[in-house]
Amino acid sequence: KKKKVQTSSTNSIIVAVRVRPITPKEESEKQKPAIFVEGKNISVLTSIGETHSFSCDNCFISDSLTAQNEKHHQQEQVYDSLAKPLLSQAFKGFNTCMFAYGQTGTGKSYSMMGKIGNKNGLDQASGIIPRFCFDLFLRIEELARTPTAERLSIETEGPYVVNLTKCSVTSFEEVQRWLSVGNQRRIVASTSDNKRSSRSHVILTITLAQSFQEQVAGKLEMVRKQSRVNFIDLAGSERMASLSVGVRRQESLAINLSLFTLGKVITALAEKKFAPYRESVLTWLLKESLGGNSKTVMLATVSPNAAHIEATLSTLRYSCLAS
Ligand code: ADP
Repeated sequence: KKKKVQTSSTNSIIVAVRVRPITPKEESEKQKPAIFVEGKNISVLTSIGETHSFSCDNCFISDSLTAQNEKHHQQEQVYDSLAKPLLSQAFKGFNTCMFAYGQTGTGKSYSMMGKIGNKNGLDQASGIIPRFCFDLFLRIEELARTPTAERLSIETEGPYVVNLTKCSVTSFEEVQRWLSVGNQRRIVASTSDNKRSSRSHVILTITLAQSFQEQVAGKLEMVRKQSRVNFIDLAGSERMASLSVGVRRQESLAINLSLFTLGKVITALAEKKFAPYRESVLTWLLKESLGGNSKTVMLATVSPNAAHIEATLSTLRYSCLAS
């Protein structure tokens, strides 16, 4: 069996920023936007009149910053620009990671999961994961019709590392069922433990194993490729700043460490330096999918609200390190 050497010339780390709309509640409280976007540049205006500017690879902001007018059309746009390219990477045999980072309530889950969809398929408000899985099975069906595709299997792991579930799936409907099981568990956990969901990372890993015959130097050979696609809805970034006490302290320290180390690892990779994977469980778990030939997408989610400016600045400082 020959192992193919994968090479890639394109940017391996993409940083995107998504600004959620002003919520109806914020609007009724006459909260004002303090964030301005022009192409790939973002400016944040502080109450004392200072402007902080950042740039990223891709920036998403609604035409109107009010949620009532939001028709979810951006869900498709965000998926198409950030996650769809990861699909072809996965089929080529590259590992990929996509993270959502930001303060609780800024749209991490909305972006990563959104609506799972129904038996007819996707919903307009479906987020990246359902859209990715939908396209994944479309692509598999296409391949299955061609004589070279001999076998393809998909396994999804997650959505939790604690109580990890690993299953083989054969259709988009099956993925939808597992996603709703995961979401249900998340809801139960958050109501039983004061929005615990924002305290932990949620990880979905899709393992794609392909085997097919290919002409190699005039001979038919069996080629096998395996790749992992990881979607990580990170714990709310406010955990980085908060110092809890008592029983939650250990948990809080672990999350601080994982977010902090992830930042260091991504910066190191961008600068082609040694990445300290072993310094946190999260980065250690994802080691095989970060760096090397892997592709990483970091989606930073922020609120447009002037009242959240400190959190917004901290999120932009964190993610712009990677750009
Ligand atoms: P997080 O996961 O960061 O805590 P959520 O995804 O739960 O945040 O988003 C908080 C609220 O804002 C939800 O009600 C969500 O539907 C809404 N929301 C977030 N981003 C958007 C967006 N881009 N367009 C419309 N609504 C959004």
